[in-house]
Amino acid sequence: MSLAFGRGLRAIPGPSVMPDRVLAAMHRAAPNIYAGEIVDLTHRILADLRRVACTEAAPAIYIGNGHAAWEAALANLLAPGETALVLGTGRFGLGWAETARRMGIGVEVMDFGFRAPFDPGMVEDRLRADGEDRIRAVLTVQTDTASSVRNDIPALRRAIDAANHPALLAVDCIASLGCDRYEMDAWGVDVTLAACQKGLMTPPGLAYLWAGDRARAERRHAPSPYWDWEARIDPEVFYLHFCGTPPTHHLYGQAEALRMILDEEGLERVWTRHAVHARAVHSAVEAWGAWGSFALNMWDPYVRSNAVTTIRTAPGEASRLRDWCQRAAGLTLGVGLAGPDQDPDALFRIGHMGHLDPVMLLGALATIEAGLIATGIPHGTGAITAAARVIAEAVPAM
Ligand SMILES: *Cc1c(COP(=O)(O)O)cnc(C)c1O
Repeated sequence: MSLAFGRGLRAIPGPSVMPDRVLAAMHRAAPNIYAGEIVDLTHRILADLRRVACTEAAPAIYIGNGHAAWEAALANLLAPGETALVLGTGRFGLGWAETARRMGIGVEVMDFGFRAPFDPGMVEDRLRADGEDRIRAVLTVQTDTASSVRNDIPALRRAIDAANHPALLAVDCIASLGCDRYEMDAWGVDVTLAACQKGLMTPPGLAYLWAGDRARAERRHAPSPYWDWEARIDPEVFYLHFCGTPPTHHLYGQAEALRMILDEEGLERVWTRHAVHARAVHSAVEAWGAWGSFALNMWDPYVRSNAVTTIRTAPGEASRLRDWCQRAAGLTLGVGLAGPDQDPDALFRIGHMGHLDPVMLLGALATIEAGLIATGIPHGTGAITAAARVIAEAVPAM
């Protein structure tokens, strides 16, 4: 028996829900790729990418996913043999470190575990001990999509400055851009990464990199033409923006999504909406957790992501719940991405990034509650009321 004969919902941390308008914008004949509309569109997207990351830094677009953004940043920032300090706060920072290792870059990992943000004081101490300035770059994620931590990027910048260390700061915002507040210039970030399929609401396929002035000026290493950010930032001819054929239809989709984010809703309101939705999820999980085994992976409310929430369960509960929600109701929940000492079957994730409103979010939470009842997983009561109260308090009656 299944009731899943409506739209369903993919409440996973990417790809997120694609607005119909974004899909409609992509539904067209191929444009001329040498001149005309596609050139104007590209320039508009590049300008909008600056706005969405709050920066004057130059954006480069790669056809690729988030892993491509990792490689693009590494290929330009670090020559083989140079050293990067990578901060682990879940899985994704560690994945970036592995990419660096495979590229022949020296990698030093500071792993803060699966349930905590990085500790800026420890980073400061490490940089102070690096008397010869061997560490060329500090790499971190803003949100780690496995643990659902949100790291304090301004505090990391202050730590690097306090240590008086010249390392460049590169931040993976793949999960958080367009969800959590992020201000590249005000926060002193040298390189930012993102991809189009999470907060930026576009089908997977575009990776973004913003290179600040210092990162560009101090680049000592020119990678292959494909990865070279300078060619993409300052191309002699249009096709070099993409080192080949432009991702034509993705550009139409992304332009529409950026219009919705920046010109219609506005970035501040987008951040607020994500914060309200995240609080609704947290309140519901806390209510479920009053009895049984459910718990937020990030217990400290100040370090929780506004884009994704990782929930701990007893072994086996997470997959039983996910299976029921998928089969019975058409709700896809995120799989657990566990750390080495963790059971992936005792974790699941709710993605609440991008094109989401209270109708969808409360529907997802109530569906999870139905799943808890159906599968007999012990849980506390009042979760949906708690989530509804968060929404109600965020929007007072007229
Ligand atoms: C999703 C994600 C990635 C990887 O992106 P892909 O598009 O799957 O390659 C990297 N870092 C973070 C923080 C992410 O959320």
